[in-house]
Amino acid sequence: MLFSNIKDGDTFRYLVNGKWEKSSSKDLIEVYNPSNGKILAKLQSLSKSDIDDVLKNSKISQKKWKNTPVNERADILMRAADLIVQNSELLSDLLSKEISKPKHLGMHEVMRTADLIRSTAEEGLKLHGEYLDGNSFYHASKKKKALVDREPLGIILAICPFNYPVNLSFSKVAPALISGNSVVLKPSTQGALSVLHVSELFIQAGLPPGVLNVVTGKSSSIGDYLCSHKDVNMIAFTGSTSVGKHIASIAGMKPLMMELGGKDGAIVLDDTDIDLAVKECVQGVYSYSGQRCTAVKRIILVDKIANVFVKKFVEETKKIKTGNPDEDVVVSHLINRDAADFVKSLIDDAVKNKAKLLLEGKRKDNLFSPVILDNVTNKCRIFYEEQFGPVAVIIRVKDDKEAVNVLNDSNYGLQASIFTNNLDKAFSIASQLEVGAVQINGKSDRGPDNFPFPCIKDSGIGVQGIKYSIESMTRLKSVVLNFK
Ligand code: NAP
Repeated sequence: MLFSNIKDGDTFRYLVNGKWEKSSSKDLIEVYNPSNGKILAKLQSLSKSDIDDVLKNSKISQKKWKNTPVNERADILMRAADLIVQNSELLSDLLSKEISKPKHLGMHEVMRTADLIRSTAEEGLKLHGEYLDGNSFYHASKKKKALVDREPLGIILAICPFNYPVNLSFSKVAPALISGNSVVLKPSTQGALSVLHVSELFIQAGLPPGVLNVVTGKSSSIGDYLCSHKDVNMIAFTGSTSVGKHIASIAGMKPLMMELGGKDGAIVLDDTDIDLAVKECVQGVYSYSGQRCTAVKRIILVDKIANVFVKKFVEETKKIKTGNPDEDVVVSHLINRDAADFVKSLIDDAVKNKAKLLLEGKRKDNLFSPVILDNVTNKCRIFYEEQFGPVAVIIRVKDDKEAVNVLNDSNYGLQASIFTNNLDKAFSIASQLEVGAVQINGKSDRGPDNFPFPCIKDSGIGVQGIKYSIESMTRLKSVVLNFK
């Protein structure tokens, strides 16, 4: 694969059974460079019969792969991680071209993924079953003993969003592979090039044919077909709540791991270290232009400190650099024009409903410089809807109790932050928040990747995180010994 010399408009193949192939449909789909609007590459648009072939091969390959000793599987993952590190410059360059990710953030994503893969290989080596004795249960026969083992589920369908294509693809692929599953990976169309490249590195690392397959194409023609296919044994999806709910509605009895949208709130109490809270919230709102599930999407300020916080927050936000992803910026182009139009509609609606525009971000096509909206209330759509853009939403409340009510007034339940110097108060508030994880004195954040990443409400089901993903991608199987 010639990823090192890609020219605008190059055509890429999909990965099936260890080979790079053209689709039988002969159709192609286009990937754009969000920062200049030019066609960056063309991908194969797979047909339903291509999907059938992929799944057929994947099923055959999984049967061998599950019997490959786990230390051999771990060695392959370790080699793939080394190759990712060796290719990190090229990969972060691809990320900046295809999803407009600033180079330093792309590099962080790539290196973090290499760490995650290594750590997953190590965790896989620790995977073990258990032994149970029937006599420990009052009503059971005393003459039974169970050997309980973990088995792979079969074929994992991994579907990933545009914003962390490498990390969110291979945080599904690595646990699936180490536990003996095969994978059909469907990357986001914007973000597919880096995923195809990392997949090639897995092949170079010695992964047998058919164990990892990468399919590309229009979600409208193959998405539902894939998700409802009888040969898929689990769907691990990260993306928007609307697509996640749709997939859940057609998946039947397949186990699901779903990481969906978020509306994370940061509560800033009156006894906090304001400078720390401002610094964390600025990064939390604007990093990668706010296109992160765990971006700080609401800042909830207790009245007593609100003015001081807002003054400093505006000063710090003005220092943020906006521009092309190959420059040293924090905010770059949103993924496409529709995304920018959506952000603009939320800002306009908030202003119409009496929010104060403290910093009016300039817009050029899909590039927005940072925006700050103060005095946002529940009359504004942006109070509830996920902005996925560089917009700070400031909500003022009279006390801690109202802060908790506002934070919980959301369909989403990913993460929340509490900024305070009072740990008792922090734990008491944390216990009242309807979210998967609470950060004390830090912005919301996925990772480190060995932490569980739980979510509730419309933010998803199941838990990612190295050990937790391995558990989700395996099933228990008991063999019971009966004694006379
Ligand atoms: P998206 O539009 O939901 O797309 C996600 C993936 O689903 C893409 O690969 C897309 O493919 C595919 N897809 C769309 N329709 C499908 C269908 N019917 N069947 C199968 N696949 C289908 O999300 P996005 O815009 O890429 O990502 C942004 C969203 O992801 C935000 O809501 C964000 O909060 C969420 N997210 C959540 C987390 C988390 O951990 N909770 C992390 C990151 C992002 P195409 O690209 O080809 O359409």
